[in-house]
Amino acid sequence: MKFSVLGTKAGGAPLTNKHSAATALMLGSEVILFDCAEGTQIQLLHAKISRGHLNHIFISHLHGDHILGLPTLLTTMGADRRTAPLHIYAPTGLKEYLDLGLTIMDAVPSFEIIYHELGHGMKGELLSTNSFRVTTQMLEHRIDSFGFRVEELPHTNISIEKAHALGVTDGAMIGRIKREGTVILPNDGRTVHFADIAAPQHKPRSFVYAGDTRKCAATIELAHRASVLVHEATFRADMNDKATERFHSTSEQAAEVALEAGVERLFLSHISVRYKSGLPLLREARKIFPQTFLAKELLIENVL
Ligand SMILES: [Zn+2]
Ligand SMILES: [Zn+2]
Repeated sequence: MKFSVLGTKAGGAPLTNKHSAATALMLGSEVILFDCAEGTQIQLLHAKISRGHLNHIFISHLHGDHILGLPTLLTTMGADRRTAPLHIYAPTGLKEYLDLGLTIMDAVPSFEIIYHELGHGMKGELLSTNSFRVTTQMLEHRIDSFGFRVEELPHTNISIEKAHALGVTDGAMIGRIKREGTVILPNDGRTVHFADIAAPQHKPRSFVYAGDTRKCAATIELAHRASVLVHEATFRADMNDKATERFHSTSEQAAEVALEAGVERLFLSHISVRYKSGLPLLREARKIFPQTFLAKELLIENVL
């Protein structure tokens, strides 16, 4: 599990060296995208993340700095002659925006777009595969805004080395142990149990993306003991009142969320363009939650 924050600035004026909200999560060959600001498809190219492996897009909310890259990305996917369906999970209204925009541009893609509407107050599971699941909660912003949690599902693999050491060498026998839990070896009658040949299991990892929000209990619940939390920090701590009024968070509030949720690492993103450097925000947050980092655009980070 790896992620790359493709855009780290809040809305506002464009900058040549910073982009607005988009974060990619890579699970094996699967790519998941959270938000899709203007320029996201270019950022994917810079990060060498294949849009061909992107099958699920999660949109936190419908402010322009989170969705304006969608029409261009979808148009490009059409030009790619993509055939696989694309799932988009977004608050009510996105489908109308994209349907109208793509129709006016005569760019309705040939592949199927499957919309999953996030209604007001929605909470719970959105997607489950055999290796991961995605859940959501509504956070607190000026318009409906959702956070997303991706969790690896625990699964135990067989250690081929252990199996061979115990004389379990053929695939059919390994298959039987997986299905039935034990196998009796035909040559010497020994019983080998699944646990004898199971590979050591790593702790299932989890990744939480909180789009625009005030500090709220829903984020703390969603991020409970997550490996990584990407949280907005639009303002410095001295702008608490402004953050509350604008339904955003300060650096300190993001750190408080991380601390109260018991996450392992916090990455600050969505930083106001008024700040030339994110370092003062990082210092403020680290006083509360030492395992805080500034999200760095295009860097590919492991979720440990
Ligand atoms: Zn925003
Ligand atoms: Zn917003």
